[in-house]
Amino acid sequence: MKKRVVIIGAGHGGVQAASTLREDGFEGEIVLISDESDAPYQKPPLSKGYLQGKQTAQAILFRSANYYNDNEIDLQLGVRVNHIYTQENQIELSDGSKLDYDYLIVATGACNRKLLFHGKIAEKIYYLRNFTDAKVIEEKINPARHIVIIGGGFIGLELAALAIEKEKKVTVIETEDRLMKRVLPEALSKVFYDTHKAHGVEMLLGVSVVDVIDGKTIKLNDGKTLETDLVLAGIGVIVETELTENSDISFDDGIVVNGFQQSNIPNVYAIGDCANHYNPFAKKSLRLESVQNAVDQAKVAASHIMGKPIEYNTVPWFWTNQYHLKLQMAGISFGFEEAIIRQSPKPDRFSVYYFRKEKLIAVDSLNRPADHLNARKLLAAGISPTKQQVEDFDFKLNSLLID
Ligand SMILES: Cc1cc2nc3c(=O)[nH]c(=O)nc-3n(C[C@H](O)[C@H](O)[C@H](O)COP(=O)(O)OP(=O)(O)OC[C@H]3O[C@@H](n4cnc5c(N)ncnc54)[C@H](O)[C@@H]3O)c2cc1C
Repeated sequence: MKKRVVIIGAGHGGVQAASTLREDGFEGEIVLISDESDAPYQKPPLSKGYLQGKQTAQAILFRSANYYNDNEIDLQLGVRVNHIYTQENQIELSDGSKLDYDYLIVATGACNRKLLFHGKIAEKIYYLRNFTDAKVIEEKINPARHIVIIGGGFIGLELAALAIEKEKKVTVIETEDRLMKRVLPEALSKVFYDTHKAHGVEMLLGVSVVDVIDGKTIKLNDGKTLETDLVLAGIGVIVETELTENSDISFDDGIVVNGFQQSNIPNVYAIGDCANHYNPFAKKSLRLESVQNAVDQAKVAASHIMGKPIEYNTVPWFWTNQYHLKLQMAGISFGFEEAIIRQSPKPDRFSVYYFRKEKLIAVDSLNRPADHLNARKLLAAGISPTKQQVEDFDFKLNSLLID
């Protein structure tokens, strides 16, 4: 009897899992279910090339239209999975029908955290998570003159940069006292702050929004009020609990998985944004929200199903593009003890090397793609330069990679 793998979610993780299974010779059925009606596409370009008008909808698709048929991947679009019955090895679909599985891969990602005022989700605030959101935002941005963006994180700031390119007046409101504080050191926050300011963004830091009325009037905790045409927000994501609620799948801010992406139910795997895993680079359990993580965890789950297990142990990496600034992050800087800046003679080009107990744990590179690639190799090989080598711009760090 042929086995059936059902994959819930056709984002970065889900599509990769289906492809890897086929590439690795899986001969059974693959059912790839997406609650979105659009053919599977990449998410990072939504807040970059797509909304900038530089990439078309077609250009951001993962695969050509016939890929799924050609590879016998049963792609079901516009279908939501409502429940998982682990005892019966069955899922329930939005039309009430049931589908059996031998292996289940949950790749459902995360969804936007919404702003609540007076105990209610505020209306007429637009968030970006999927292609439908992008189309709505595209329509709203074009006629707007003044756009307020709540949240000075990656997505909020990418939206600010592209709205500036569209010659809009832009205000960013951030509760913290600096941009991207959760993930970046002060030196990098400052470059992004200075660049956004230089492009004309009004930055309100250390300020919270206490109410948004009719998507037009924004009340701040310092008593001030802003009037605007459009409110966008990027204030983080959460993993929906709906799918695993009332099931016996362990959940703790995400589906809890082992190093092979298996949940506590051995034939139920979770990958990508929705998977809470022990990360050997962070040395703790967490969820990562990145393409790298979704893609690499998909390969791990597929390899386990194919009986050739490889444990998840890849260097985390991420990127953001804003104006001429391209920031690439390798490793996880959480818990660092010392951060050393390796400054290139050119402006806005440097890398920050993070050390814990004399060991390199992460590198953030600003407009230094070669540093980023070397960092990924150094971290993967567990090779640590000394702090003196990092400080010495003439020392070639990639020489450490040569045997
Ligand atoms: C605007 C934007 C910009 C980003 N930029 C970057 C970047 O520059 N670099 C980077 O590394 N990462 C970036 N990310 C994050 C990255 O896209 C995610 O980490 C990645 O998509 C996670 O992949 P995933 O497979 O876990 O989930 P997703 O790609 O989100 O896919 C999950 C899919 O599952 C579907 N789904 C959910 N529940 C169900 C259900 N019950 N039934 C059926 N289908 C369901 C969802 O609709 C979705 O299509 C960005 C994200 C966004 C939104």
